[in-house]
Amino acid sequence: MRCAVCGAANRPRRARVHGERPGFTCVHCRTANFEDADGSWTHLPYRPVGERWPAGKRRKACVERRDDEHAVAEGATLCGIPEAAVTVYRHLWTPTGAASCAGCARSAGEVDRRWPADRR
Ligand SMILES: [Zn+2]
Ligand SMILES: [Zn+2]
Repeated sequence: MRCAVCGAANRPRRARVHGERPGFTCVHCRTANFEDADGSWTHLPYRPVGERWPAGKRRKACVERRDDEHAVAEGATLCGIPEAAVTVYRHLWTPTGAASCAGCARSAGEVDRRWPADRR
């Protein structure tokens, strides 16, 4: 299955994405692709990095680690912490916050560059 945004090949799987709609989240650009009732495919519109993912923090912050705020994507944070180990907040994550995770910011930049400029 090809992503409607970046064209990357994704394993054919149908999961419930963003509520009730069948689709998949692209492994390359992390955009949610949806199959409509008529069999056509659509995707979420482009969003700047700071308006795309909810913020979250580790449930049990390690003593030696700062209590960073992470970008929570589907299943895990952008830096790889499983979603189950994170408390997700109602506000969105921003790469420029004082406590923003550097790993998430790096990953968010990479994901953002995978969106073709002419499709934003
Ligand atoms: Zn994609
Ligand atoms: Zn992170």
